[in-house]
Amino acid sequence: MAGEGRVVLVTGGNRGIGLAVARAFQAAGDRVAVTSRSGEVDGFTTVACDVTSAEDVEAAFARIEAELGPVEVLVANAGITADQLLLSMKEEAFTRVVDTNLVGTYRVVRRATSKMIRARKGRIVLISSVVALTGSAGQSNYAASKAGLIGFGRSLARELGGRNVTVNIVSPGFVETDMTAVLPEARQAEILAAVPLGRMATADEVAAAVRWLASDEAGYVTGAVVPVDGGLGMGH
Ligand code: NDP
Repeated sequence: MAGEGRVVLVTGGNRGIGLAVARAFQAAGDRVAVTSRSGEVDGFTTVACDVTSAEDVEAAFARIEAELGPVEVLVANAGITADQLLLSMKEEAFTRVVDTNLVGTYRVVRRATSKMIRARKGRIVLISSVVALTGSAGQSNYAASKAGLIGFGRSLARELGGRNVTVNIVSPGFVETDMTAVLPEARQAEILAAVPLGRMATADEVAAAVRWLASDEAGYVTGAVVPVDGGLGMGH
């Protein structure tokens, strides 16, 4: 696909799905900035940014705008898990996950949107999860945060449609990254048995859907929840 030379920001772009997304945009000719809490990433404009801090988010956008220009494509990917059954789950673990995955997304999306509205164009892609709709025992905090992203994103699709800004949600299933590597083998086998395609996704397979949703080809797609889950969430 021909490069579009746009300024793209991927939060949590130093590893896993975010890094695959950053590489996919770069390969298509876009100018990509990535944020993470720690460390530089070779080949990209890397900005330290904890999405739980409004000050970090503001400083990151200011730096990206100074170096590359206003963000035209935002991929809100940064996310964490803190799995526990409800009765063992302390309030801190619930609020930390929601503050990172949902409120953190609000922080970066709000900051990016002000410039997109002025430019009368923009692409926003939120990374949710299959468990947003299926639920997942031991992940009530995570599933709540990811389900929240669907309501958030679809509301914005309505608010911003008239400004030529699309907002879509990608719902990955079970993807080979650090996040899933920590799951016990028995749990992994249990999940895989429920996946019609019978395997995990690669991060590149998720990235391909994200890149398409941000492309001109997907100009009439907004408010969509796109599963990349090997069929795991079918029917939900
Ligand atoms: P990883 O754990 O491999 O990477 C998570 C990324 O998020 C890292 O770049 C990390 O940065 C960043 N991050 C975490 N907390 C913060 C924070 N407070 N501020 C800024 N950045 C932060 O996860 P994945 O690549 O697997 O997941 C990426 C997204 O995809 C997440 O939103 C996840 O929920 C979602 N997802 C993943 C699935 C999977 O099976 N792997 C399935 C469905 C959804 P740092 O290195 O600085 O910690």
